[in-house]
Amino acid sequence: FAINMDQLQLGEELGSGAYGTVKRVLHRPTNVAMAMKEIRLELDNTKLNAIIMELDILHRAVHSSIVEFYGAFFIESCVYYCMEYMDAGSLDKLYGVGVPEPVLGRIVYFMVKGLKFLKDEMQIIHRDVKPTNILLNKKGDVRLCDFGVSGQLEKSLAKTNIGCQSYMAPERIKGESQNALSTYTVSSDVWSLGLATLEIALGRYPYPPETYSNVFAQLTAIVHGDPPELPDSYSEAARDWVNRTLVKRPESRATYAELLSHPFLLEDAQRQVDMQGWVARALQWRDAKRQERIRKQEQEHQHPV
Ligand code: ATP
Ligand code: MG
Repeated sequence: FAINMDQLQLGEELGSGAYGTVKRVLHRPTNVAMAMKEIRLELDNTKLNAIIMELDILHRAVHSSIVEFYGAFFIESCVYYCMEYMDAGSLDKLYGVGVPEPVLGRIVYFMVKGLKFLKDEMQIIHRDVKPTNILLNKKGDVRLCDFGVSGQLEKSLAKTNIGCQSYMAPERIKGESQNALSTYTVSSDVWSLGLATLEIALGRYPYPPETYSNVFAQLTAIVHGDPPELPDSYSEAARDWVNRTLVKRPESRATYAELLSHPFLLEDAQRQVDMQGWVARALQWRDAKRQERIRKQEQEHQHPV
């Protein structure tokens, strides 16, 4: 069946990114809660149609580590994209001061499974692996979203700003300046996966803004500096796993098969991890922080300095 706007009851905003906003919606005919992403594009109808057609292959991307796709449509110059609603939101708002190693292992396992599925079964390179694109639900499921399936959409989302947190592999940062899109291979995703893993473990982006005064300094550090590492408090296996992803030469980086059979993920398979319990605690922490922020804003409003 094809989804259209008339069937949707709009709910609250879940967040917004560089290209648009994501809202919770209810699909009335089926009573399914969905997340709807609105992407504003100044394109003609032929191009918008091409994007909708390219997105259609997402119907085949059915996997426990991939956010389910329900359909897309366009109205005027906006593309609307409907996907599974993940009721714990994205990992960037849940990791707090960093996640414990068993939880890290489980999250990483689901991510590698999802990325390997996309590559092997769909011939898709993700291209945007980062904590905001890793979604969780209260059952403890971990799923990836926002991977690049539509060439036309990618082209239209011309990167206006690189942003202050880059997950791009060194070869991509270098390629970008030579305007070479072909430098992107599946191993570039492995770098982003490693950087995201490190961020989830540390509870902060691994190239801290305090150290690098501007985006250029940060990108220079990624290309020319030593790759960041997990601290000593993590197991040897976990540290080695991250080291195998954050290798500067793309040819020498680990493959998904290697990452799955690495001791870190073999240990993970032996453990019982209460993901549901961890998500519940992470949500409490996230919502307490939100309340605190709102209170502060109200105080500042009442007593302006
Ligand atoms: P960027 O624009 O750099 O890609 P982003 O990934 O945060 O950043 P969006 O993809 O527009 O931007 O998503 C905005 C926010 O909406 C996300 O950070 C996430 O918290 C929330 N979100 C996105 N998809 C869903 C979903 N399916 N279920 C629940 N929350 C979602
Ligand atoms: Mg996103």
